[in-house]
Amino acid sequence: MRKYTIAQFNKDFPDDNACLEYLRNRFYPKKIHCPICDKDTKFHRVTTRKVYECDYCGYQISPTTDTIFEHSPTSLKHWFYAIYLMTVTRCGISAKQIQRETGVTYKTAWRMFHQIRSLLTDDIVPSTGEFELDETYIGGKSHGARGRGAEGKTPVFGIAKREGEVSALPTNDLKSSTVYPIIKKRILPTSTVYTDEFRTYDSVKRLGYKHIRVNHGDKAWVVGDAHTNTIEGFWSLLKRGINGVYHSVSEKWLQNYINEYGFRYNHRKDEKPMFLTVLGKI
Ligand SMILES: [Zn+2]
Repeated sequence: MRKYTIAQFNKDFPDDNACLEYLRNRFYPKKIHCPICDKDTKFHRVTTRKVYECDYCGYQISPTTDTIFEHSPTSLKHWFYAIYLMTVTRCGISAKQIQRETGVTYKTAWRMFHQIRSLLTDDIVPSTGEFELDETYIGGKSHGARGRGAEGKTPVFGIAKREGEVSALPTNDLKSSTVYPIIKKRILPTSTVYTDEFRTYDSVKRLGYKHIRVNHGDKAWVVGDAHTNTIEGFWSLLKRGINGVYHSVSEKWLQNYINEYGFRYNHRKDEKPMFLTVLGKI
C-alpha cells in the first residue's frame, strides 16, 4: 500500500476549509446548477457556514448534505482526522484517543466512530473459489464459559475466501437453516469449502460445493490445504481488537465493529491508501 502519512494528511487537509473544498469538488466536480436561476451559475463560499451560495440569487448548497457530516457541529478537520486514524491503525482506535487528540467530548467521539464505521462496508459479489467457513462467539462476560452456546455471547458466522475477502455477521443461531442462505449468497456452486467438524456443515455439499473437513482434534496432523487458518486469523484479529481496544461491544453495534475490522482486512493489500478509499465512500 502506498504510504499516506500524517504529514501528507495535514498538507492535504490543513483546516475545515480544505475539507469542505474537498467535498465540494467531490460532489460538484464541474459547474453548480442553481435551481432558482435554472442554469449553471457561480457559487461563492459563505465563510460563516458550511455552505456555498449562488452569486445571483443567494440560493445555498452544502456539500455535507446526505453525508455523515450533515447536522454535525464538529469540525470537519476532526472528522477527517478520525477517519484517517481509523484507516492507519491495525488494531482499532478507541473513542478515548480521538477525544484526547481533538478535544471533542467522549460522546461525540463515540458517535463519530460509529458514523465512520457505517462507511466501511464492501459489496462482495458471489464468486467461485476456495472458501473457509467458520463460526465463533463474541461478547458477553469475557471470563465466562467458552464454546458454542456460551451464555451471553453472540454467534458470529464468517466466510473467508482464500487470497480474497472476508465477511462476517452476527446471527441468532448457527443452525444450517440460518447459515446456509448466507453461504449461498456469497459462494457459487463448484467452489471448495473448508469447515471444521461442526454438525451445521454436515449437508453443505448439497449446495453444490466440494466439502473438505478439518479435524481440529488432529491439528498436529493437518497437512496442505485442509485448514481454516484464514478465517481463524480474522477472528483473532477481531477479538484482540474488541477485547483490547473496545473492551466489550454490545450486540447492537457488533456488526458495525465487524465491518471496521473486515474493511481493514479486505483492503490491507490495496495499492491505494485506505484513507483515500474511505473518503471516496463518503
Ligand atoms: Zn441562483
